[in-house]
Amino acid sequence: MDLKAHIRGIPDFPKPGILFYDISTLLRHGPAWRAAMERLAAAIRPYRPQLLAGIESRGFLIAAPLALELGLGFIMLRKPRKLPGATVGLDYALEYGTDRIEMQADAVAPGQRVVLLDDLLATGGTMAAGVALLRQAGAEVPATAALIELSFLNGRQRLDVPCETLLRYD
Ligand code: IMP
Repeated sequence: MDLKAHIRGIPDFPKPGILFYDISTLLRHGPAWRAAMERLAAAIRPYRPQLLAGIESRGFLIAAPLALELGLGFIMLRKPRKLPGATVGLDYALEYGTDRIEMQADAVAPGQRVVLLDDLLATGGTMAAGVALLRQAGAEVPATAALIELSFLNGRQRLDVPCETLLRYD
């Protein structure tokens, strides 16, 4: 299955000059979504995760089905003030301004092996913040993974763990 055939690039979204890689067309196609999940499952299994984490919101669409496929639990890294109960959070720098992600303070047990997933790795800022937050909460993070990597942005250089990706664009 040629998964790239199910991803489309939309010019000038969300702002002029940006080519946005849209995974909606892959999610719409049952066999392509399943094939993508099977390939990502095979890529992250060797890291022996005990739990999978997804970054809001498209990361949830990757991490949750993968967790089911691997028989693991799933946790959410969310935008501020979305999660009930005690949370831990981390502010991180964007190109312009800052952003924040949060997770429930009791989501991981100390030393638990958590693989972090998102739909796409661009500059790596979001993924690096997710790794840092999971560690702050006590997790061990053996790897990260994403469906798509914009390799020309060198996002993986911002990570101190491997990032498994299926589709790369230069
Ligand atoms: P980074 O922090 O620069 O690596 O950006 C990655 C984050 O931005 C991920 O959470 C992606 O969902 C989102 N993102 C950036 N570019 C794209 C794109 O072309 N398609 C879909 N999501 C994108």
